[in-house]
Amino acid sequence: MDYKNYNSMAKYLSMVSKGLNWVSREIEELKSSGRFIPIKILQSSQGAWVKIDGKDMLNMCSNNYLGLANDPRVKKAAIDAIEEYGVGAGAVRSIAGTEEIHIKLEEKVAKFKHMESALVYQGGLLANTGTIPVLVGKEDVVFSEELNHASIIDGVRLSSAQRVVYKHLDMNDLEKKLREAPKNSGKKLVISDGVFSMDGDITPLPEIIENSEKYGAMSYVDDAHGEGVLGDHGRGICDYFNVSDRIDIEMGTFSKAIGSMGGFVAGSSDLIEYLKRKSRPFLFSSALNAGDAAAVLKSIEILESDDSLVRKLWDNSDYLKRGLNEAGFNTGHSKTPITPVMVGDEKKTLELSDRLFREKNVFASPIVYPTVPSGTARIRLMPSALHSKKDLDYAISSFSDIGKRLGITK
Ligand SMILES: *Cc1c(COP(=O)(O)O)cnc(C)c1O
Repeated sequence: MDYKNYNSMAKYLSMVSKGLNWVSREIEELKSSGRFIPIKILQSSQGAWVKIDGKDMLNMCSNNYLGLANDPRVKKAAIDAIEEYGVGAGAVRSIAGTEEIHIKLEEKVAKFKHMESALVYQGGLLANTGTIPVLVGKEDVVFSEELNHASIIDGVRLSSAQRVVYKHLDMNDLEKKLREAPKNSGKKLVISDGVFSMDGDITPLPEIIENSEKYGAMSYVDDAHGEGVLGDHGRGICDYFNVSDRIDIEMGTFSKAIGSMGGFVAGSSDLIEYLKRKSRPFLFSSALNAGDAAAVLKSIEILESDDSLVRKLWDNSDYLKRGLNEAGFNTGHSKTPITPVMVGDEKKTLELSDRLFREKNVFASPIVYPTVPSGTARIRLMPSALHSKKDLDYAISSFSDIGKRLGITK
């Protein structure tokens, strides 16, 4: 190497790293306030038990609600599709990336969701950030629920629409804000998570739709935690409330109960055709891989033909909540399998999680500010159809033991 060049390169690098010194300071600050949570590395597939640091750990925090992420039927469908289509789509959907399997999947999703048409995205975050800016712009107003997911918040930001936040689950507040919207404003969009991921409560979707209809707004629900969980055979929140024919836009993800990767938007055929011409992840980001698309297709087929996994999930989640409540824990006001164990104090929550991990081989992630409001720190448990009653008993007794020692329960 040319020594002179090397020297000036080293000088250049040291200048750049000085410019980034602020990052190191930020990290120190996160560490000193207990918000720098180390990231666990899994050395196995997603199961009731997973391997971390070479040890078998009871997995209580994956969104793999139904166990489909590692289901042999789903894996085989993905492998077969890779044999047929290869591993990469090679292009964006609008140029050369649309494969037959995408179309089959879109037809399947529309049918499963009882919607006219559907568009598949590479992820749920992209579905939200790619769709919201097509629906609204500068002149328009979005009425957004207080606890909406980050991908909705980002989608609204990208749209440049005015954002009006309404209180959590509060339909009076939503109506008041719709009523007070300036008469000459442009389009209106009401948007909400279906199931709230940190609390497990459910948005009153029929009333959201009624209010939207009354005030001439579009209605949009994000069903990420409802798919495979709520409704007949896990068709999701719109089926659960029987409003599939009244919701304007139903969005969801394939990365949670469906077990794979990708997202979708379902609605009228015109909406889907319009998104294909305007939505940036469709036009500017390469298509979902065939293996993922085939896995999703298979998971939905499994759900259509058999709801035993969904029933097992609910049975397990009732069992877990009951056991934790009997042990003296507060599991909040969840209406779904999402099971928050409310602690409040951040340091205590981190310690509970850490001791469960080290002393009991129970993997249960702490959730602290800013993911949830300050002072409402918790451990969010995600029971799945994969857990046996013995697994859940073990989780409950481990929580009980450490909870007592930390003075969280008596
Ligand atoms: C997980 C989640 C998403 C993002 O889905 P990905 O497919 O993981 O990108 C969007 N919205 C909500 C409510 C979610 O919980």
